[in-house]
Amino acid sequence: MSQQSPAELGILADDPAYNATLAARIDDTDTLARVWIKPDAATTPFEPGQYVTIGVKVGEKWLQRPYSIASSARALDGGYELYLRLVRGGAFTPLAFALPIGHRMRVLPPKGRFMMQENDSRVHLFVSSGTGIAPFVSMARTLLDDGAPRRAIYLNGVSYVSDLGYRDIIDGWSASGAYPATYVPTISRPNDPANAGWGGRTGRVETIVRAALGDLAVDPANAVAYLCGNPEMIVAAEKELSAYGLPDEAIHKELYWPAGKQPTGA
Ligand SMILES: Cc1cc2nc3c(=O)[nH]c(=O)nc-3n(C[C@H](O)[C@H](O)[C@H](O)COP(=O)(O)OP(=O)(O)OC[C@H]3O[C@@H](n4cnc5c(N)ncnc54)[C@H](O)[C@@H]3O)c2cc1C
Repeated sequence: MSQQSPAELGILADDPAYNATLAARIDDTDTLARVWIKPDAATTPFEPGQYVTIGVKVGEKWLQRPYSIASSARALDGGYELYLRLVRGGAFTPLAFALPIGHRMRVLPPKGRFMMQENDSRVHLFVSSGTGIAPFVSMARTLLDDGAPRRAIYLNGVSYVSDLGYRDIIDGWSASGAYPATYVPTISRPNDPANAGWGGRTGRVETIVRAALGDLAVDPANAVAYLCGNPEMIVAAEKELSAYGLPDEAIHKELYWPAGKQPTGA
């Protein structure tokens, strides 16, 4: 959590272009938070998988970034639920993490072509690193609200066990039978003391793709994959999915930043 107040960071408390409020926030860790952004007007409908751009003004300058929507496309009343990582040295996230509940901001309408294909009965393979799991939570929540859950396998890679966001929700769906989801987390730093006691899979998510799908007897002819997050992971995971037998048409990708890019202030 940022130690500095919005004013100390130069964030304007109000601006004529602000059209939304930070309505709620849950900090999962010091660097991961779920936030709810409530537009002043009715929440613009979106397709699961799309993102909104949120921003604040610092002096004369807008600082803003896109974030995948994690909420159901059928639950617009609460605004947009987003899942943010604090990038130390980043231009925007240190500002976003400094905002108290009730702070004003700007939200641009939902956009993006990384959308769940409708009328597709194939098994969903949701492959993500870190916060890249957010659009896949929206997809399943939307299908759940539509009364049309589909078999889904979540392969999610993070550095630390504490970073396994939405784990409780997805495991809860499986346990209750509400949604036919299988959650397969993997930890890339198993020897770090913070991960002591972890008994699950280890390594970056791309390294477990083929083994996990094989263990779950996934038929590549009856699966459609969505990949989201770190660009290096996406390139590597796509190769693994192709090697497993998925055709190019069955692999959809959302890169959170260009390969090789470092945080602005780092
Ligand atoms: C379509 C789209 C959807 C996105 N959705 C999300 C989302 O749901 N949640 C989210 O946290 N981010 C998401 N991002 C990334 C987000 O837009 C910002 O890039 C990120 O919050 C960093 O902003 P910054 O200004 O603090 O860092 P910048 O100064 O812009 O530095 C960017 C650098 O930070 C690192 N970085 C960026 N995003 C992440 C991340 N999520 N985890 C770890 N390192 C990162 C990379 O090295 C990147 O090059 C999304 C990006 C795109 C293009």
